[in-house]
Amino acid sequence: MTEAWRPDGEDERRGATGPVKVRVPAKVNLHLGVGPLRRDGYHELNTIYHAISIYDELTARRGDTLALTMEGEGTGELALDDTNLVIRAAHALAGYAGVLPHARLHLRKQIPLAGGLAGGSADAAAALVACDALWGTGLSRDELAGIAADLGSDVPFLIYGGTALGTGRGEAISPVLARPTSWHWVVAIADGGLSTPAAYRELDRLRDSGAASDPLGSTDALLGALRQRDPRVLARTLGNDLQDAALAMRPALADTLKAGEAAGALTGIVSGSGPTCVFLTTDAADAERIAAELTAAGVCREARVAHGPVAGARVG
Ligand code: ATP
Repeated sequence: MTEAWRPDGEDERRGATGPVKVRVPAKVNLHLGVGPLRRDGYHELNTIYHAISIYDELTARRGDTLALTMEGEGTGELALDDTNLVIRAAHALAGYAGVLPHARLHLRKQIPLAGGLAGGSADAAAALVACDALWGTGLSRDELAGIAADLGSDVPFLIYGGTALGTGRGEAISPVLARPTSWHWVVAIADGGLSTPAAYRELDRLRDSGAASDPLGSTDALLGALRQRDPRVLARTLGNDLQDAALAMRPALADTLKAGEAAGALTGIVSGSGPTCVFLTTDAADAERIAAELTAAGVCREARVAHGPVAGARVG
């Protein structure tokens, strides 16, 4: 019997003959509740992840070895060796599926490095999805998310995308069922990154010295707001326990946050461990206007508009 070829050049058992292109979004945390430090060195998290329309793109082609090239954000700065999360993800999938980790991978990066937008985790998720299609390993999304959890706390979310609750160290994902609404964001990208472990250490220090804000607590108000369509209601419920730490490490971010709100954003928060700041706006036109004002004010390297939620790592 002849093999059934899929229209995109994939064969169910042998994988793709042509290139596989995967697009993966950045994430922001609409709520980032940081609990106590665990024995394993991670903090207990209670977070609402939200995937936004700033994308990295990973193309996978057949090859005789495993090799990575890149262009865009972080080129020349980011190592392309075994420390890169793309390479680590390819090895992890190959080990799990019992195949040789051979592929030529090319990363087009638009998500800034160490920006609090989980760019590295996004690339790991993209590599799992791309190599799964290239090698024809045919894993389910849940199986890929299982491998993803060992690569980093944010990686499982980027396999799924959308808006989701993350618990544990952030790797245990449950989708949030919300009304189909698009929220409009301005993403203010700073010069240089902030280290995520350093931001957690700074939060511990602020908490030990009694200088941190009260912890956020429950996600109920935010989950309630997501069920409505009013960005003004959502704006009142956004929060990030790591914001104090990011502001202590990068005091200039306070000016960025003020400038966004002065330009008419409903609210602004630091994204994850920073230094990117994200602003919720009333609609797409408002987001464009505020992004232009922020860029002109010189309070960030670049301000981009984005919407969310969007899907996670996907072929196509
Ligand atoms: P998070 O929001 O998950 O804390 P982040 O957005 O602050 O992450 P990333 O861009 O994900 O930061 O990168 C954090 C570090 O991970 C980088 O400084 C780099 O050393 C390492 N890394 C490894 N592979 C990658 C990759 N493909 N892209 C970006 N960073 C990578």
